Amino acid sequence: MLKVTVWNEFRHEQKNERVREIYPKGIHDAIASFLKDDFEVRKATLDEESHGLTEEVLHETDVLIWWGHMAHGEVDDVIVEKVKQRVLDGMGLIVLHSGHFSKIFKTLMGTSCDLKWREVGEKERLWVVDPSHPIAEGLGEYIEIEKEEMYGEHFDIPAPDQLLFISWFEGGEVFRSGCTYQRGKGKIFYFRPGHETYPTYYHKDIQKVIKNAVQWATPTKLPKPVYGNSQPIEDIKPKN
Ligand code: ZN
Repeated sequence: MLKVTVWNEFRHEQKNERVREIYPKGIHDAIASFLKDDFEVRKATLDEESHGLTEEVLHETDVLIWWGHMAHGEVDDVIVEKVKQRVLDGMGLIVLHSGHFSKIFKTLMGTSCDLKWREVGEKERLWVVDPSHPIAEGLGEYIEIEKEEMYGEHFDIPAPDQLLFISWFEGGEVFRSGCTYQRGKGKIFYFRPGHETYPTYYHKDIQKVIKNAVQWATPTKLPKPVYGNSQPIEDIKPKN
């Protein structure tokens, strides 16, 4: 069974009653709950020792899911580097919503990852623009969320390897909401929805996308590539 670690900074839920009402045990617990029938799920949070991401945990994680917002700066650079190395070695990474500004996403993208935002609880419609992609399996033409925070273009990211969703917002903006990247042997998926004051992670289609993304981001079983000076495989005939 695939091993998934759901990481959450877990601060809004402790400080804001409205967020606690929606996610009483934390966003990580809500995400772990809909994954636990299909995957072996572990939870980790910022305030644990090593943010819950010890060498052992990272070594045993096939796919890491990341939700953070108000405390990106408190994530230890040493841990970020270890997560990055694991991604380059093949661990899948799913970055959710405000995780666009996390140290791990910014370091893997190499850009500011900045965007426009507005929090008034407007409608979001995520159009599936790559219906052949396994992450979109089982969805209709679009996903509709009654109330969400708006994220708008320009989103300062490198051009995605694959663009799966484009969001339209009631206020008129659009946004690249589902983007895949490959870094080293690792597969990365950024998925936009999931503001903490809305019950987005209980939405069946959002859960479907995250489940599909875990399957997609699974590490490949290929041997580690060999680099450096190399002996010829065939005999090279001397040339006169
Ligand atoms: Zn938000």
